[in-house]
Amino acid sequence: MEALIASGLEAMGLTGSVPQNAPALLARYGCALLEKNQVINLTAITDPRDVATLHMLDCASLLDCARLPGKTLIDVGTGAGFPGMVLKLLTPTLSVTLLDSLQKRLDWLGCLAANWGLPGVTLLHGRAEDAGHAPALREQFDFATARAVADLRLLSELCLPFVKVGGRFLAMKSVDSEEETAAALPGIQRLGGTLLGVYDYALPHTQVTHRVVVVEKCHPTPPVYPRRWAKMQKHPL
Ligand code: SAM
Repeated sequence: MEALIASGLEAMGLTGSVPQNAPALLARYGCALLEKNQVINLTAITDPRDVATLHMLDCASLLDCARLPGKTLIDVGTGAGFPGMVLKLLTPTLSVTLLDSLQKRLDWLGCLAANWGLPGVTLLHGRAEDAGHAPALREQFDFATARAVADLRLLSELCLPFVKVGGRFLAMKSVDSEEETAAALPGIQRLGGTLLGVYDYALPHTQVTHRVVVVEKCHPTPPVYPRRWAKMQKHPL
């Protein structure tokens, strides 16, 4: 896994902007993931090559659309730490909050962070639509990220309340998300955001191209958002 990650980071032009031991760290994370996956359900991806590319390199691609050193980031629906934990391992000075509604996955991430002596990792158990109303979390982060959590209309309502004005929401999507993105635009605007653009990237060692939808927070989010999950689903913005 380590060699594949190292050559992937190089092909992505990231070698100079990540710690020298980044490939080793990410490979260690990948091995721990596969080991724990035999006990609790962390990922459907079980081939080490795919873990290296579809998890590690995929998440690393966010470094191309955000300057993360010294910043704060919340990863909404982090699951087994994607993309939040990868970004933390690649950016030691990043303060990362990993939010998920499933306690078991957070417990595992907490053990990793403790065992590896990683400062600046906060585990947050709960639903984003509740956490987004907590004063200690609302509009407190430079970045919010999410991968494979929800349709962009719902995801924007879950994520944008966490982002401070001037910060960014980075949604990891497939390249065929044009309609989804267009449908989310009115809601993004209502939530205080504006679409900055989309960034397509080819994943090294695969035929896969993925996309990051980049949204800037321009105005505070109206206090009524995020709404209850059922309401969001019934009446997406
Ligand atoms: N982001 C990870 C990845 O890309 O591998 C996990 C994706 S997994 C398909 C979706 C995760 O989002 C699950 O761990 C689930 O518990 C979490 N989730 C879904 N809705 C959520 C919500 N409203 N608040 C917090 N977590 C949520």
